[in-house]
Amino acid sequence: MTTNTFEKLFVAELKDLYSAEQQITKALPKMIKAVTSAELKSALEAHLAETNNQIQRLDKIAENLGKSLHGKVCNGMKGVLAEGAEMLEETAEGSIRDAGVISAAQRVEHYEMAAYGAVHEYAMLLGMNQVASLLSETLEEEKSADKKLSKISKNVNSDALSVPA
Ligand code: FE
Ligand code: ZN
Ligand code: FE
Repeated sequence: MTTNTFEKLFVAELKDLYSAEQQITKALPKMIKAVTSAELKSALEAHLAETNNQIQRLDKIAENLGKSLHGKVCNGMKGVLAEGAEMLEETAEGSIRDAGVISAAQRVEHYEMAAYGAVHEYAMLLGMNQVASLLSETLEEEKSADKKLSKISKNVNSDALSVPA
């Protein structure tokens, strides 16, 4: 079936995000387990809780639109998370792995920021103010998760830099 209206495009992109968020809830616990920095662990734990809430927001949006958001696989997030899983396997435990996980996690946040930025704009244009405001809440959470990771990376990267060869 061809996506031939702006509203259908909007729903298709929301479905993509629904899948992305579901995948993230499965991947984050593995990252949390594999990292060492307490600061990083707690940031990832906090974002896992936020992610569950973001899924609930999407459920609310689905209800509001009278549409199901199930049944799509976000291949972009699948790839980004596959790289994150590779990072866990291929890095030595400690600050080196932690630095790599931050980089992988920020790739996730940037993908989400791009996608939520787009659907937020669509919702505004479609005059769906309540939906737009839910999407904006999530967009802000993704941005602040990204900023927090940047901040934590300062300490983690400097520890990683002093790991002897
Ligand atoms: Fe998210
Ligand atoms: Zn996708
Ligand atoms: Fe996120």
